[in-house]
Amino acid sequence: MRITEVETYHLRLPQVAAECNGTQDALLVRVHTDVGLIGIGEVDSSPHVIRAVFDAPYSHTLAAGLRHLLIGEDPRDIERLWEKMYRGTLYFGRRGAAIHAISGVDIALWDLLGKATGLPVYQLLGGAYCRRMPAYASDLMPATPEEAYDRAAALCDAGFRYVKLGWGGLGQSEAQDVALARAARRGIGEENALMIDAGLCWDAATAIARVRRLEDLDLTWVEEPLPPDDLGGYARLADAVDTRIAAGEELATCWEFCDLMDRGRIDVVQVDVSRAGGLTEARRIAHLARQRNLPCVPHAYSTGVLLAASLHWAASLPNGWLVEYTVEESPLATGLTGTGLLREPLRAVEGYLTVPEAPGLGIELDEEMVARFRVA
Ligand SMILES: [Mg+2]
Repeated sequence: MRITEVETYHLRLPQVAAECNGTQDALLVRVHTDVGLIGIGEVDSSPHVIRAVFDAPYSHTLAAGLRHLLIGEDPRDIERLWEKMYRGTLYFGRRGAAIHAISGVDIALWDLLGKATGLPVYQLLGGAYCRRMPAYASDLMPATPEEAYDRAAALCDAGFRYVKLGWGGLGQSEAQDVALARAARRGIGEENALMIDAGLCWDAATAIARVRRLEDLDLTWVEEPLPPDDLGGYARLADAVDTRIAAGEELATCWEFCDLMDRGRIDVVQVDVSRAGGLTEARRIAHLARQRNLPCVPHAYSTGVLLAASLHWAASLPNGWLVEYTVEESPLATGLTGTGLLREPLRAVEGYLTVPEAPGLGIELDEEMVARFRVA
């Protein structure tokens, strides 16, 4: 089997608002083969930048576009092709956009291998520890405590036992942060779990003070209180508070995750499989987290393609726990009523997602929706 073409699909809503919402555009990847099988992947990054990583012509042994590196290759050689793409982009890659683009190819290659062998991706990754994964509802933090209470309560009414609210109204003032978190806690009730995503808004001293003021809320975790490069700040925070600290969604490759785990001493390892290096690298990261007895939770705030890849990965981990499930009402996301661009949406039912059993990722794109939102 040989790769004959690598296509990118840049999707974008007609209106893109200036907010922390990853469901307003998307980049899908399709890897075609000479036997007619097509693998599907996704990159959650800047689609315009990522397209350039695919389209760039050959410049140098260590600087070539992904399409150039992939055409003619056997798509079943997944790890070898990961190394070929990593080495072939070394000058402009190693982290960031090039690894994001490699992630989309890698997901598509695992989908292809599943379709070629008739096996679901979770089985190719070593087998599922569970067929139904608890999904946590992930949403932006409303602007007022009243709205935070109502939103948290509504998500629990929709069947979720885990709710995360983040960004949005947080980071304005100490009084506001504490009031929003307390209102959300009241809204979800004693029996359910709440996470707060601070959205990179504090420095270390502020984060220590804020998390201390929230410790009686029994938060399941506080996410990204600090910028991803402030590893010293993360270490100070780890020493100062008992609440779990979660982070990792901006990181690419196991090298960055090793630093975050060992120097930053975080408690919950959040891997976006469409940015960190695909399922191949996410599996390596999960093994490194397992050595440190840390749980892994996928970051997934985009289409159903990313959700499916995240679900297969999380289900195949001994240190899997939850799957992020955005409840954003965007035509590109699944949310509470959408499709996530899939013909059969992967929808959370009573707070659980069922791992697909069909070959590969086990999903089919809704071609009409893809065509409607495709801009390049
Ligand atoms: Mg986050």
